Amino acid sequence: MSSLWKDKVILITGAGSGIGQALATLLGGLGAKLILTDINKQNLADTCKALESAVQYSKVADVSSRSDWQALAADIDRNTGYLDVLVNNAGMSSFGFFDETSEHLFNKVLNVNLHGVVIGCREMLPLLEKAKRGLIVNVASIFGLITMPMMTPYHTSKFAVRGFSEALKQDMLYAKKNIDVICVMPGGIKTNIAKCAETEATQKRDFAGHFAQHALTSPEQAAKVIEKGMRKNRFRVLIGIDARIVDVLYKLLPTNYYKVSNTLMGVNKLLR
Ligand code: NAD
Repeated sequence: MSSLWKDKVILITGAGSGIGQALATLLGGLGAKLILTDINKQNLADTCKALESAVQYSKVADVSSRSDWQALAADIDRNTGYLDVLVNNAGMSSFGFFDETSEHLFNKVLNVNLHGVVIGCREMLPLLEKAKRGLIVNVASIFGLITMPMMTPYHTSKFAVRGFSEALKQDMLYAKKNIDVICVMPGGIKTNIAKCAETEATQKRDFAGHFAQHALTSPEQAAKVIEKGMRKNRFRVLIGIDARIVDVLYKLLPTNYYKVSNTLMGVNKLLR
């Protein structure tokens, strides 16, 4: 493992659970100075307690709140005056057909998964510019590349995060900013994302159980792949064999991939 991250100031959102927590643990162990946020106070406190002195600063913050981001930026400006890495990781999911998903829930997923990333980039940009070389790590998903039924808000948000990241990378390049952008596309990672998914569906289906059966990669393995992607500055970071299969499948069958992917992912069985 590299010591590239020693003393680097790294902000990770959604650090109280899953991928964010595992990445914080890995980067903290490599000497990074961590700034951790989450909307879940208890989980954030538990993560910080476990990581002890690696955590320079932590704050309960909602990524969909501009004022939370602004307060955080002011704190970082006061404390270190710059930010080396922003990891936009916090996210949520929902489950249900489009016509049984309220506008409120649809917008909530977009506000957290998409606007949270966009606002985060906007508010942290001045601090990233003050670093020797800034890095933005946006966590999208393979569900920003292919779709399955009953997840329209999630897909909308993750396709947009992938597009935003690609466009932002070019803007940083052509505007001659000293900032790299990478986009992480995990396959199924064994975290709480499905258990915490919000639903308004009338017919109850075991979404969390289905996810638990099909998620192949641990958060710790995912963190290692992300760290390598950050170190090598790889724009698209695919995580897991499922993500790599999906990537190839989409290239081979750009409009009919779902006939194969829904079988592979057990979706047909879940929705029978
Ligand atoms: P997780 O549920 O274990 O962790 C998500 C964290 O985000 C939680 O700690 C939660 O409290 C926090 N969070 C949720 N809403 C928030 C908000 N408004 N403000 C601040 N924090 C908030 O799930 P995870 O799988 O570790 O998810 C991390 C990221 O990875 C998400 O963006 C998710 O979409 C993405 N992802 C996950 C998978 C997977 O299979 N687990 C696959 C692809 C992409």
